[in-house]
Amino acid sequence: MTDAVVVGAGPNGLAGAVALARAGLAVTVLEAADEIGGGTRSGELTLPGLLHDHCSAVHPMGAASPFLRSLGLERHGVTWLWPEVELAHPLDDGRAGVMLRSVAETAARLGADGPAWRRLFAPLATGFDALVEDLLRPVTHLPAHPVHLARFGPRALQPATAVARRWTGPAARALFAGTAAHAFHPLTSPTTAAMGLMFVAAGHSHGWPVARGGSRTITDALAACLTELGGTIETGVRVTSLDQLPPARTVLLDVAPAAAADICGDRMPARVRRAYRSWRHGPGAFKLDLAVEGGVPWTNEDCRRAGTVHLGGPLEEVVHTEREINRGRMPERPFVLLSQQYLADPGRSRGDLHPVYAYAHVPHGYTGDATEAILNQVERFAPGFRERIVATAVRSTTEMAAHNPNYLGGDILTGANTPLQLALRPRVALDPYRTGVPGVYLCSAATPPGAGVHGMCGYNAARSALRDLRR
Ligand SMILES: Cc1cc2nc3c(=O)[nH]c(=O)nc-3n(C[C@H](O)[C@H](O)[C@H](O)COP(=O)(O)OP(=O)(O)OC[C@H]3O[C@@H](n4cnc5c(N)ncnc54)[C@H](O)[C@@H]3O)c2cc1C
Repeated sequence: MTDAVVVGAGPNGLAGAVALARAGLAVTVLEAADEIGGGTRSGELTLPGLLHDHCSAVHPMGAASPFLRSLGLERHGVTWLWPEVELAHPLDDGRAGVMLRSVAETAARLGADGPAWRRLFAPLATGFDALVEDLLRPVTHLPAHPVHLARFGPRALQPATAVARRWTGPAARALFAGTAAHAFHPLTSPTTAAMGLMFVAAGHSHGWPVARGGSRTITDALAACLTELGGTIETGVRVTSLDQLPPARTVLLDVAPAAAADICGDRMPARVRRAYRSWRHGPGAFKLDLAVEGGVPWTNEDCRRAGTVHLGGPLEEVVHTEREINRGRMPERPFVLLSQQYLADPGRSRGDLHPVYAYAHVPHGYTGDATEAILNQVERFAPGFRERIVATAVRSTTEMAAHNPNYLGGDILTGANTPLQLALRPRVALDPYRTGVPGVYLCSAATPPGAGVHGMCGYNAARSALRDLRR
């Protein structure tokens, strides 16, 4: 007998499944792919013995997630590992904006901009665990920590470029712009500061860790929690209709809104279906994994020790590239996020051959090949890089969507971060997880609090389902 069915075994589907199973429900998870994990899968993409993350790489929000922390995933094999430098953003003159765990040490390296960095981020980092309790829930809730939220909220509503005005040097401005670019949205648009503020504050309180043995260990651990609670998972089952599901009191859908509309069909009220079908997807990611002999020869020393390196040049350039991709134009020098997970987790390498992870921000559904543009960006800050490449694996936006239907057009966030969609996702509703079909809830990254491996969309959706069951 099944009480609850969860469609999709991404971090949110599995987190929702665990939350339901913890409440005593018999849960079955159905996953379309042959393996679980969705955006957290890892494997040998280039050469035997080199471990690459297919999608998510760095987990500030995973380490900070109240739900994941409550589960004690360490028992099931999750170990967070931190690089010496959390994040570096190199500039053309050989300098770099550098984020360390300590706000004070980060500020000390930012020269005249240091005090303003400390004034902004020290209180946010200190109160971060309280802040995330509010940030990782729908906006339509009563704040648990209004003082912390009041410090964050008014600034978060601003464009990233407005917040960056408090710094005058290129290093601090670029460092902040790179983190705000995780929104994949024009940095001159309201609310783009939110992403930058959250990621930097998370970095100063929890760091930007990687999971030992690859990101897949996070969802493997969630699956182990579920199994321990009696839940089951079936892979290789693509759900296209509610009629396919075994009878259950509750259904969670870890899918994109349009897919939820398809699955629910006529049972979904027309107004919800319309809202789900008009959900906007954002720009795409073009991914390049590399096997690199001796690692990346960065000009800047801090980049050689950084888990994450943002390649986008000065703030003005990041503003330009994010605007271009949102207008459907591929910039010559795209914003590139590069991760060197092996620095914190050496077991991912084979001898002096290291797995290097990179993706470029590209227009939605981009059909071109961004490989050269990514390599040029790396070479710009690490001359001689190309000569060290031994093997590559490419994933275009089309392949990204084929790998996971939630990433339509290569949109790895499952939804554009427009101000409206950021605040009221996936539609305007008091309970954003309800689909309008009794007992059926959306729990993917298209729901609050949005993308990232934190499981909070799934957890919140499960809470909503449990509340309705109790009524
Ligand atoms: C290249 C890339 C880099 C990223 N980097 C980071 C990072 O460094 N840190 C971070 O925190 N986040 C990162 N993310 C984002 C993060 O991976 C996602 O936000 C997160 O995985 C969303 O979780 P989810 O459970 O909502 O959906 P997903 O992880 O997308 O999982 C959805 C699951 O549902 C399955 N599914 C979909 N439709 C059906 C169906 N009809 N029937 C059955 N199963 C179905 C899919 O196969 C998939 O397994 C990255 C993502 C990508 C792609």
